[in-house]
Amino acid sequence: MEPTPRTQIKRLPERGVYERSTVNQIIDEALICHVGFVHDGQPFVIPTIHARVGDTLYLHGSPASRMLRSIRNQPICVTVTLLDGLVLARSHFHSSMNYRSVVIIGEAREVNDPEEKTAAFEGVVEQVASGQWDYARRPTDKELKATSIIALEISEASAKVRTGDPGDDEEDYELDIWAGVIPVTTQFGQPIDDSRLKPGLISPPHLNTYQRP
Ligand SMILES: Cc1cc2nc3c(=O)[nH]c(=O)nc-3n(C[C@H](O)[C@H](O)[C@H](O)COP(=O)(O)OP(=O)(O)OC[C@H]3O[C@@H](n4cnc5c(N)ncnc54)[C@H](O)[C@@H]3O)c2cc1C
Repeated sequence: MEPTPRTQIKRLPERGVYERSTVNQIIDEALICHVGFVHDGQPFVIPTIHARVGDTLYLHGSPASRMLRSIRNQPICVTVTLLDGLVLARSHFHSSMNYRSVVIIGEAREVNDPEEKTAAFEGVVEQVASGQWDYARRPTDKELKATSIIALEISEASAKVRTGDPGDDEEDYELDIWAGVIPVTTQFGQPIDDSRLKPGLISPPHLNTYQRP
């Protein structure tokens, strides 16, 4: 992907990445995104679930969602953030975080075609728990109608990645202050049975070994 005037990273440009594979990896690993939009002149940034199917990002939810209703055919900005570490420098000024993030901008498109809607629904289910689409009950026509799907083409996007040590001022390396990185990981536990689980049922293998791509 080529940077555009809107996605060209100006602040610390060496951290910018525009390869689609990196952008896709960050989107795929993340469980949530934040959607920025303007409603009645007021900017809002709302967290939600997303899915990537090819070069399209999908958002889904209730047709009653203010967010989904107001972003149709409107410019939006979606950000995806993965936190990898707390970067503790010898000075507060140079303390930071290690991260991988993506910013996507473009016009939100409402999806009405039933085939694309179903594919997006599947994408959302699989983004959260791979293998689950084939395991749980598929949506009925009524449920599909009760779900709004919004698409955003991933054509104008940037990734920004910070890795590694703190970058302290040269004279501060002599200070008797510990500096380094506290890694941050997301852990998934063992599945906990629903209190109304039918007796005799156990969680399926794709959920017992749950991990992000
Ligand atoms: C977990 C985390 C913590 C952060 N903490 C801070 C902080 O405390 N203070 C701070 O100033 N900054 C922080 N950043 C960096 C912040 O996201 C911005 O990159 C930075 O503030 C510069 O913003 P800007 O609008 O001036 O960037 P510009 O370089 O002017 O932005 C131009 C374009 O670059 C792209 N871009 C900018 N930032 C990102 C990004 N993070 N990911 C993908 N594309 C991007 C967008 O397409 C944007 O339109 C943090 C980032 C993350 C992920």
